[in-house]
Amino acid sequence: MESALTARDRVGVQDFVLLENYNSEAAFIENLRRRFRENLIYTYIGSVLVSVNPYKELEIYSKPQMDRYRGVSFYEISPHIYALSDNTYRAMRTERKDQCILISGESGAGKTEASKKILLYYAVTCPTNDRMAALGDRLLQSNPVLEAFGNAKTLRNDNSSRFGKYMDVQFDFRGAPVGGHILNYLLEKSRVVHQNHGERNFHIFYQLLDGGDDDLLNTLNLERNPQNYRYLVKGNCPRVSSISDKNNWKVVMKALPVIGFTEEEKLLNIIASVLHLGNTQFGEAEEGETYITTEISNLAKLLGVDGSALREALTHKKLTAKGEEMITPLNFEQAESARDALAKTVYGRAFTWLVEKINQSLALKVHSKGSSVIGLLDIYGFEVLQHNSFEQFCINYCNEKLQQLFIELTLRSEQEEYETEGIAWEPVQYFDNKIICDLIEEKHKGIISILDEECLRPGETCDVSFLEKLEGTVGGHPHFVTHKLANGKTRRVMSREEFRLLHYAGEVNYNVTGKLFNTFLVMCQSDNQILSHCFRREEVIDQKRPEMAATQFKNSLMKLMEILSSKEPSYVRCIKPNDAKQPGKFDEVLVRHQVKYLGLMENLRVRRAGFAYRRRFEAFLQRYKPLCPETWPNWHGRLVDGVLTLVKHLGYKDEEYKLGRSKIFIRFPKTLFSTEDALEA
Ligand code: ATP
Ligand code: MG
Repeated sequence: MESALTARDRVGVQDFVLLENYNSEAAFIENLRRRFRENLIYTYIGSVLVSVNPYKELEIYSKPQMDRYRGVSFYEISPHIYALSDNTYRAMRTERKDQCILISGESGAGKTEASKKILLYYAVTCPTNDRMAALGDRLLQSNPVLEAFGNAKTLRNDNSSRFGKYMDVQFDFRGAPVGGHILNYLLEKSRVVHQNHGERNFHIFYQLLDGGDDDLLNTLNLERNPQNYRYLVKGNCPRVSSISDKNNWKVVMKALPVIGFTEEEKLLNIIASVLHLGNTQFGEAEEGETYITTEISNLAKLLGVDGSALREALTHKKLTAKGEEMITPLNFEQAESARDALAKTVYGRAFTWLVEKINQSLALKVHSKGSSVIGLLDIYGFEVLQHNSFEQFCINYCNEKLQQLFIELTLRSEQEEYETEGIAWEPVQYFDNKIICDLIEEKHKGIISILDEECLRPGETCDVSFLEKLEGTVGGHPHFVTHKLANGKTRRVMSREEFRLLHYAGEVNYNVTGKLFNTFLVMCQSDNQILSHCFRREEVIDQKRPEMAATQFKNSLMKLMEILSSKEPSYVRCIKPNDAKQPGKFDEVLVRHQVKYLGLMENLRVRRAGFAYRRRFEAFLQRYKPLCPETWPNWHGRLVDGVLTLVKHLGYKDEEYKLGRSKIFIRFPKTLFSTEDALEA
């Protein structure tokens, strides 16, 4: 007789800790695949939520679905991003401890979508504070604005976030959202002036050209066709089938007033000025001097600066040597770089300003007692491109730090908890990436401090000499490789201008050529208030040692790590099922790679090494006491004895559980499932 496929065979297990063969990567991936095939995109590893991008709209995010997940425990209902949102919210309310949700995964895996679903869940289900009724709205409306300026179409994702984002949502004592705050990290500014084939610049440029009305474009002196702008043609991809720039423009224009924005005109001037900057051309005079061949009065007007000062800034540089200022002309190539550097800085700073504005609009207006916070981290995943520069270096460094935090917070704390509870623990092997973090960030001898020193030297390039210095300092490090082999020969596959880091997630070659420029002074004089706010004179006049970009980033990461480690973390691990952005396609090789570097097998091993679930005695007793006549309605003895009486009555076998000092540890979730079932019956 043919046996029917049971529901379980078809859809696998909803928590990986239930896998028979939990050490097998193949079994892990098979479980993901089965569930993916049935549109079950969410699966747990204990309290970690694994999500596979469906690349199609699923009917699982409606209001009735939200209601299903309210106040329900993880194991009582199918895995969902709402379950995680709700559990986090309840933990914040009952334990009165700040929470954070860390969302990770590679580009296109669904991080931003996940963070939007979490926000939506809170905006819809949390009580509202009368005075702050519109806050949920503002939180939600800040998204399209940030995405217009900070997202772009890339080969991997039509709506790729090109900046990292950490957002705090503050709740009052009643659990109503009352405030928010965003920290932004490292916008990919190089995109402003260059895009790879098949990619675009930031959405806002195309939105403006497609959606802005004729009058507006006239005022800004812009033509509708994006292909007329040098900063927009490089990727040769003006349109994206999945995106309507015109509609998105309307959405952004509608959202701006909701988030209290009044400087629309000034902001649009800046966007237009970047496009005009891109079209600014240079010519070379015979003496090697450079001059501007295109009209710049319009550009100067949009930037709010004096035309001749701008002309001077784009074609000359100012050097201070031995206390004396010298003005020297730039050659053609240098002038082009100066122009691009200006475009990047203007855009980058306007973006930061925008985030500040959004923060003002979300800021807690009334101080509320007993408030607590849920933080959401949606940050770029590990990135390996054809050509990896400083930006990829920072992105991957950030991922190393997050991995370190993950190891510290989950794996290590797991062990520690067993210890404090007095429960025997069999050590689990896992790779500690501290060694790579140290290589990058250690004081005086890490890559970042060497980079800083090199950038401070006179001259404009920081390239090959930087590499030599690196070799001298970290050359012997097991995670650092250059073209030089230990035996003095050279490694042919690597150029002389790159170094390779062996990251926990894989190998990446970084190119070290890059130039540093300064067109700063002229922007300080801008009468566009956004720009004059962004370029402060004090920064130039203040002759203190300037903070270098890498160190700045390192410091902001340190701060982020501090913020995160002061909170109770939850994790969403996003997986991208295929590179074609298509529904229903599960590329096993691609998935396996992500399972590996998201550390999911390790995570599962730790979870299964001991006990999948643990609960404090009082919580356990409180929930299950109706199941035993001796503990119902109240247990009067020691808590631990009550729990023991209860589990004996329920028929738990000795190997199924352990009693620690304050908690019961349950080895298999199915034990808990059956107890839950008994409660329902
Ligand atoms: P990046 O690092 O490039 O910003 P990301 O991880 O933030 O990538 P998203 O922008 O969230 O990726 O997702 C990429 C696309 O995948 C979305 O635009 C959407 O089309 C689709 N997608 C992601 N998650 C879901 C989901 N839960 N349901 C339906 N579609 C989704
Ligand atoms: Mg994103």
